[in-house]
Amino acid sequence: MSSNRQWILTRRPVGDIRDGDLVLRPDRVPKAGKGEVVVRTEWLSLDPTNRLWMSDVPQYMPPVELGAPMRGVILGKVVDSGSDAFEVGGFVMGIGSWSDYSVSPAAMLSPVPDIPGIARKDVFGQFTVVAPTAYFGLLDIGAPKIGETLVVSGAAGAVGCIAVQLGKAWGCKVVGIAGGKDKCDWVKNELGADAVIDYKQEDIQQRLKALLPEGIDIYFDNVGGDTLNTALAQMNLFGRIIQCGMISSYNNEGSYDVPQNYPMILMNRLRVQGFIVTDYAARFPEAFRALTKLYVEGRLKWRQHEIDGLEQADQAVRLLYTGGNTGKLMVKVADLG
Ligand code: NDP
Repeated sequence: MSSNRQWILTRRPVGDIRDGDLVLRPDRVPKAGKGEVVVRTEWLSLDPTNRLWMSDVPQYMPPVELGAPMRGVILGKVVDSGSDAFEVGGFVMGIGSWSDYSVSPAAMLSPVPDIPGIARKDVFGQFTVVAPTAYFGLLDIGAPKIGETLVVSGAAGAVGCIAVQLGKAWGCKVVGIAGGKDKCDWVKNELGADAVIDYKQEDIQQRLKALLPEGIDIYFDNVGGDTLNTALAQMNLFGRIIQCGMISSYNNEGSYDVPQNYPMILMNRLRVQGFIVTDYAARFPEAFRALTKLYVEGRLKWRQHEIDGLEQADQAVRLLYTGGNTGKLMVKVADLG
């Protein structure tokens, strides 16, 4: 292929992403400048944070500029390199764009780790972002002890499903919160959660009280909003809240609901900590080893929700904010063998 297609951010979404916020445009295949690498995309990861990157709100990275290619996490093959660190023909993953071909600073890319028994696309889908997020969030911030109670919101999602399984592997009593019967059945019957709450059908507050009369020691928060507020009221003394994500607010233009139960942080001496998985980049090999061991032992499962074709990306990303995805959402851009 000698031509390129790029999704360009033409307008900042107001509320939900709408047609025309992103436009697919033809372009030339870029050339690598000094310190840059051009990657032919094989898979594009779609992530809840994409909506934040489209907005000009305070966040952990600069927003995507209007008129620029949409930023995305990619897996692909190096086709041109201005960096000694990457040779043409090698597979890499990291930050690129929603394009057939991306140009990235070498520092934003890393080789795809060779994990025996796990296909490249699964290594990409699980090990680039989501599994290390669950691992470091739960291990370092949650600091779980055997017999403690753990509640995971977004429990059927990419990060959440790993957090549920790590919680069980590390000896916790785990309650997942997810939307819909199919997802809830999967979390309980396949992932091994002790109980699950369907937040679309059930009252979270009442169900948490019934399921965990002993209270919550650790809350792994993927959603923020009302669910966070409810969990805050039921946290135990010296409980920990892992502030991983707030997907319920990402379409609100940076306007976040402040939990009414915020004072419980003081009353119950809670530790609440946000984090971004890249904070742990230097420790990724540790996560890969631990997660691979669990996978080989049959104690780690995941789902990937795969969409075919770069042209589908702007419709597909919307699934994340309606719960339409079942597992790690990824777009297949090209078949690179
Ligand atoms: P998921 O695979 O979990 O997909 C998003 C899911 O969020 C949906 O399927 C839906 O599940 C749920 N959801 C959407 N809207 C709402 C809502 N209003 N209330 C409750 N649940 C909702 O995505 P990820 O696993 O990739 O991400 C999960 C969270 O983790 C996000 O908040 C994300 O920003 C965060 N994250 C943080 C990282 C970090 O470094 N801190 C890294 C990666 C992700 P359902 O059908 O159950 O409602």
